[in-house]
Amino acid sequence: MRLGRAAAVTDTGRRRPRNEDAFVCEPPLFAVTDGMGGARAGEIAAELAATALEEGAGQTHGTDALVALVEEANRRIWQRSVEDPRTTGMGAVATVALVDEGTGTVAIGHVGDSRGYLLRDGAIEQLTRDHSLVAELVESGVLTPEEAEHHPQRSAITRALGTEPEVEVDAFTVDGRPGDVFLLCSDGLSAMVADEALAVTIEAEKRDLERAADALVAAANARGGEDNITVVLFELLQAADGVADEAALPAAAEEPMPPDPAEPASLPAEVDTPEPGPEPDSPEETETAPPEARRHGAGPGGRIAALLLLAALLAIAILALYTGINR
Ligand code: MN
Repeated sequence: MRLGRAAAVTDTGRRRPRNEDAFVCEPPLFAVTDGMGGARAGEIAAELAATALEEGAGQTHGTDALVALVEEANRRIWQRSVEDPRTTGMGAVATVALVDEGTGTVAIGHVGDSRGYLLRDGAIEQLTRDHSLVAELVESGVLTPEEAEHHPQRSAITRALGTEPEVEVDAFTVDGRPGDVFLLCSDGLSAMVADEALAVTIEAEKRDLERAADALVAAANARGGEDNITVVLFELLQAADGVADEAALPAAAEEPMPPDPAEPASLPAEVDTPEPGPEPDSPEETETAPPEARRHGAGPGGRIAALLLLAALLAIAILALYTGINR
């Protein structure tokens, strides 16, 4: 087993003034963090967590080490919140994945309501359990999953990094298979886009994970973009030969791909709704994007991709019409 391509994007969304998410894309370690707290504390907490995880990326193996790394992130946020009164009460949630190419396993560490998903053979599986009030109410049978989706307290979390000196970290490993695609995301994606639509969107752009990540962000924004949206994608491939050739050509994305006619039918929202987007969220994007070197806004890229897809589909439709008439 070996790691194939990876892509990561974070976006402010359409409603929030700032982006309090962060990510780590340092193969073999990947993470999303989502901060909370007044003023700029949420941003600080998310960055502290991402930095702690990033620094430990090189020398970490297995779930025990991954748990220690997440605990270190917890300690740093807690420490800062004790020392700096402006950050009192801040915290962050984090979902971390660490790939072990030797054993073909992926270790997952998790605290809060960001999520890890596995896409395998076209099906999507949520790997992590939300540490949220509504998730607990669903598990205990008080709420149905449908009720949870619209619950006013759906963003209330029950576990976070940095709010206490110690934290309990969920940790487990997944046996990887060639072709697996892993998705880590903040709740700004999962609260806006249903699991099935996540799977369809990724499948449609699977040959280019950057485009898949942009498409996910565009989907969340098309459905309201109520929170910051962060997406990390990575794939597993066969060890030596096999699919190796395909992965060695990331530039293949530039070639116009014949779009699958099934795509637009299943995802009409992404194709025609991005238009009204720019006015409300462009001021925030320009305000928050520059200082964060590890982040890059995906909004314009996603919109351009959607327009290109639309243009390609139109061309194909016209072609089909002509060939039909000529016969
Ligand atoms: Mn969030």
